[in-house]
Amino acid sequence: MIDLRSDTVTKPTEEMRKAMYEAEVGDDVYGEDPTVRLLEEKAADILGKEAALLVTSGTQGNQIAVLTHCRPGQEIILEAESHIFYYESGAVAALGGVQTRTIAGVRGAMNPESVKNAIRGVDIHYPVTGLISIENTHNRAGGAVVPVENMKEIYEIAKANQVPVHIDGARLFNAAEGAGVEVKDFAQYADTVQFCLSKGLGAPVGSIIAGSKEFIHSARKWRKMLGGGMRQAGIIAAPGLIALTKMKDRLGEDHANARKLAEEIDNIDGLRVENKVETNIVVVDVKELGVNSEEFVAHLYSEGVLAGGFGPTSVRFVTNFDVSDAQLEDAIAAILIAAKKCK
Ligand SMILES: *Cc1c(COP(=O)(O)O)cnc(C)c1O
Repeated sequence: MIDLRSDTVTKPTEEMRKAMYEAEVGDDVYGEDPTVRLLEEKAADILGKEAALLVTSGTQGNQIAVLTHCRPGQEIILEAESHIFYYESGAVAALGGVQTRTIAGVRGAMNPESVKNAIRGVDIHYPVTGLISIENTHNRAGGAVVPVENMKEIYEIAKANQVPVHIDGARLFNAAEGAGVEVKDFAQYADTVQFCLSKGLGAPVGSIIAGSKEFIHSARKWRKMLGGGMRQAGIIAAPGLIALTKMKDRLGEDHANARKLAEEIDNIDGLRVENKVETNIVVVDVKELGVNSEEFVAHLYSEGVLAGGFGPTSVRFVTNFDVSDAQLEDAIAAILIAAKKCK
């Protein structure tokens, strides 16, 4: 099977497994795991933030950020198809007691003027705007990169209104690779950042949240409250360090593979690539084949390719380091056969 469902499906590399075996560990709830501390320092440094915290997942990282920034009854501004709104099981409502104010973006980017207009003024009837969240890359927009300039404009508006900004940067390193900038260039326009070690970077487990020392101090307590205090977590941090220092440099290969995949798919009768491929995600409309996404995914499955339904007639393919060039060729051939079988 060639697995293009996500970049989360990769297995830890040989080097990662060795690093796990050899990791120096301690009890991280006591702050005594040297490998976790090293990872957190390194991550903070790369993002240009004062401090960072290893968390269990991207969802936990985003939720800890919301809980740390906001009080119940507040409102958060976020893009209409953002992960926090769309894919986190309603956690901001269930755990944070906050309500959402969504703004439809263009290729994942919210119009700064719309964000400005959505920030609540002082009125007894209004909730307080507690947070603005920006997703970069934007998953449902097909791995679109939110430009640094857009982030800067929103950040300036946020600062003028004393509202904190969070980046849901599950794939922030893909955004940096796609835009030809450093992750710091994005992170400078946010108070806090979440990124996943376990997506394109290939670590088996974990995400990082970063921000000021004060923010991370509170976030650590929220992490404990959510059951995210892990003991000898150096076992997890060790492959995370490899992800952060080495794997980020090869993301360009995934992006080149995604562009190649998109080009080939666009040449197949009945298939149309929906997104401008900027990173490692390709979204394909299968409507013209006269099937829905579920049916096409089933056809792909019988040809040895795993992909994910992404809408009634949309299918998502995500390139990752476990898919070799040869496998990509095989996947393209299999997609062609699957499309022919629908006709
Ligand atoms: C995957 C993802 C998350 C959540 O990460 P998990 O580790 O799966 O909880 C959050 N935001 C975005 C944009 C994502 O793509």
